Amino acid sequence: MNKIKFLGTAGARFVVMKQLRTSGGIWLTLDDTNVLIDPGPGSLTKCLSSRPKLNPRDLDGIILTHRHLDHSNDINIMIEAMTNGGFDKKGIVFAPSDALDEDPIVLKYFRNHVEKIEVLKERGKYNLGNISFSTPVRHIHGVETYGLNIYGKDISLSMVTDTKYFKGLETHYPSDILILNVVRLEGKPEIQHLSIKDAEHIIAANKPKLSILTHFGMTVLTAKPWEVAENLTKKLGVKVIAARDGMEVDIDQYKK
Ligand SMILES: [Zn+2]
Repeated sequence: MNKIKFLGTAGARFVVMKQLRTSGGIWLTLDDTNVLIDPGPGSLTKCLSSRPKLNPRDLDGIILTHRHLDHSNDINIMIEAMTNGGFDKKGIVFAPSDALDEDPIVLKYFRNHVEKIEVLKERGKYNLGNISFSTPVRHIHGVETYGLNIYGKDISLSMVTDTKYFKGLETHYPSDILILNVVRLEGKPEIQHLSIKDAEHIIAANKPKLSILTHFGMTVLTAKPWEVAENLTKKLGVKVIAARDGMEVDIDQYKK
């Protein structure tokens, strides 16, 4: 079964610090390949407490979209868990160069545990197990940040991680399933995150088969994300849902 499991839906500092939502990232199983995207604080705990349990040793790789702590805090312990404490040299870790070079998020000690470290770059193309993915454009988010287009045999997913909206953003993410990190209910020029209005614009332009909102800040949580998603569904005539902690989405129904 191809599926997305949300190990967390928290976005931005306060929701993460107070753990109003958990922050373990996204586990994707696609074409028998398992990848963990953005293992924030609590990722290992959420894997092991999932029902059925997610075994980190089943991971083929880990992707960091950027170095912010809510996306990367558990990267080292997840490498440890993926590689059975370093006894099984396996897996690929993908991260932007600023998560690896100066003040590295991925500790040097753990880099020998994995088969390979790959540096994410703008317009990069990468392979992992039976799937491939691309990083079409650098986001506007302070640190080096890339969203993902992930391709399976019959299913494609776009994951628009943290960014300030910029003109043409939507043209880079045309997949059947669209995951949007929507931190803010309303945008503010100085905040480099998408708002619900930005999300509406992107969904209306691309009309994916399924849109999933996640990575919520306080303002979206207060507005009840499930109601926000329902309103967008009614307004745009396409399916929009709000992620919940632990939510699993069967994505086989969204095959080409
Ligand atoms: Zn961020």
